[in-house]
Amino acid sequence: MPDSWREEIWWLITGALLVGAAGWLLGYPLQILLLSAVVYIAWLLARIAKIVSWLEDGGAKRSAPPTVGLMDDIVRLTHREKTYSRKQKNRYKRTLAQFNNLASELPDATVVIDKNNVIRWANVAARKLLDIHSERDRGNRIDNLIRDPDFLAFLQANDSGAEIELTAPKDPKLMLAFRRVPSGRGMSVLVARDVTQRIRLREMRKDFVDDVSHELRTPLTVIHGYTEILLDDPTLSASHKNSLTKIDEQSDRMMHIVEKLLQLSRLESNPLDPNDGELVNMSELIQNLVTDLSKTAIQPHDWQLHVDETLALRGHYDDLYSVVQNLLQNAVKYSGEGAVITVVWQQESLFDDTANLGAGAAGVELAGGYLSVSDNGIGIEARHLPRLSERFYRVDRARARESGGTGLGLAIVKHIAQRHGGLLLIDSVPGEGSVFTVRFPPQRVEFLSKEAVSF
Ligand code: ADP
Repeated sequence: MPDSWREEIWWLITGALLVGAAGWLLGYPLQILLLSAVVYIAWLLARIAKIVSWLEDGGAKRSAPPTVGLMDDIVRLTHREKTYSRKQKNRYKRTLAQFNNLASELPDATVVIDKNNVIRWANVAARKLLDIHSERDRGNRIDNLIRDPDFLAFLQANDSGAEIELTAPKDPKLMLAFRRVPSGRGMSVLVARDVTQRIRLREMRKDFVDDVSHELRTPLTVIHGYTEILLDDPTLSASHKNSLTKIDEQSDRMMHIVEKLLQLSRLESNPLDPNDGELVNMSELIQNLVTDLSKTAIQPHDWQLHVDETLALRGHYDDLYSVVQNLLQNAVKYSGEGAVITVVWQQESLFDDTANLGAGAAGVELAGGYLSVSDNGIGIEARHLPRLSERFYRVDRARARESGGTGLGLAIVKHIAQRHGGLLLIDSVPGEGSVFTVRFPPQRVEFLSKEAVSF
């Protein structure tokens, strides 16, 4: 209990006793006590009224009303609180100003938008890169200012992990990469970075690889052709035949790499429209490839097929052939004799294991096409999984080279999956085996008529 409270009680009791004694002496103890209580309450109310009007006037220290006891404590504590909150407010103001300065000087265009895509704030770089002025455009919808259809699709998707590359609205020479970062209460921060240099380098690298691949194709075909002719010569000595066989194998391998590089380049430069392509009978394609592979494989495998013969996929036949071929060849290459290789082609919602794959998390709706190739072969350590679909990435280079691997197969599978609106997922346990899954969106799958199925 504060001292002032005790003091106030002491004064009250002493006052009451004195007034009571005086009242008793005068012969009207109760009336005088009542009158003094009314005077005391009036005095208290007057003091409270002064404090309230002082607070209404801003509560400055110098204009604080003269008070005593408990009221003095109230004035003092109120003043302390006010001083503290003023200092806090100043501190927040300074921090906010510093943050605003920093954010406005960020080299990336930064725009704060609300859940209706209305602009709330933009930094200096947004003016230069996006032609968005914080003061002028605050309150406008960003999709009214940047009207590119890809940008609108990006905004609608509202995927915080997604990134799109677009030309700058006012300068076609500039390329920008957009990302959207959610920042709570429906607000998000849109960041656009100048990636012109990165894209130019990527294009230069791509052009270089394309040119080299094209240039190598003809000499390699010539080398390969002549070696085949020379190898047919019955008079060839054993040592010459041995050398020529090596040349033949290596040129064959190089041609294989060049073909795959050219295929990748074609995939990158020809996007597929969402509903483009022919209706591919996937079951037939899978069964034919399995038959071919079982005939040519050095070791026998236990093939398990769970394919829906009625389910077809709208896409590019050669591309889809490549997907299945690469996945099946890998399953054969990276698993030993007698290994069980399971191929599934089903409509996703009808396949029992979909729940384990986190359908929603992967961003592909249910009821799409589900292709999976699993083996109980050597498996892959978890640390390699995110990089497997990069060009030339191989877990064990020596083994991959021995088995004729190029390190391009999974990159091709990933690109083809993406071109068809799908997704490649890889799951593996070292020593136990791997599952490669390609999920296609519902709009790409169709059911074949009975006549079309009976092939
Ligand atoms: P490669 O031509 O070398 O097989 P891929 O791009 O098809 O190239 O595969 C990349 C790497 O992924 C391979 O080198 C191999 O290490 C690993 N890999 C692919 N499929 C499997 C599989 N079924 N089992 C184990 N490892 C695999």
